[in-house]
Amino acid sequence: KSGFVSIIGRPNVGKSTLLNHVMGQKIAIMSDKAQTTRNKIQGIYTTENEQIVFIDTPGIHKPHNALGDYMVESAYSTLREVDTVLFMVPADEARGKGDNMIIERLKQANVPVILVVNKIDKVHPDQLLAQIDDFRTQMDFKEVVPISALEGNNTEKLLEILKSNL
Ligand code: GDP
Ligand code: MG
Repeated sequence: KSGFVSIIGRPNVGKSTLLNHVMGQKIAIMSDKAQTTRNKIQGIYTTENEQIVFIDTPGIHKPHNALGDYMVESAYSTLREVDTVLFMVPADEARGKGDNMIIERLKQANVPVILVVNKIDKVHPDQLLAQIDDFRTQMDFKEVVPISALEGNNTEKLLEILKSNL
């Protein structure tokens, strides 16, 4: 069984960190600086019976120039190519305009969306629950999975969910 999964979200939410963790090697470029991930970098997670092709995307932001515009559209273009979208948001920053912009595009795309709330190592459980409740008021998600991509917390669960949806 196999499937395509893209990871979408604002810059610096931890998309590349998750991909690196899942693949167990540094395949995407990581940095604190926004916009280091310029291309769709694919990692293929393979077990005996399953194959998940991950597509990392440039962080979605309000484009200031033609290159920015191209990168944002290239991230959105993956919505037409994948079976599942991981919409990643940080647990420690309130939903903002950038997230709302992404949510509008996700609603237009006819693809299941899993909300991945990352960086749970940085917040109190109450703040995590409030964040999840807030995003749930905006859109119906297929699943909601809190993780720490950095520490690897709950990433196995996320993989299990993706596998069960292949
Ligand atoms: P991207 O722009 O969405 O690809 O984000 P990156 O993967 O490049 O991560 C941006 C920053 O967030 C880096 O400094 C990461 O180390 C940090 N980061 C990513 N995931 C986590 C996490 O789960 N917890 C914490 N504390 N930091 C994280
Ligand atoms: Mg990145």
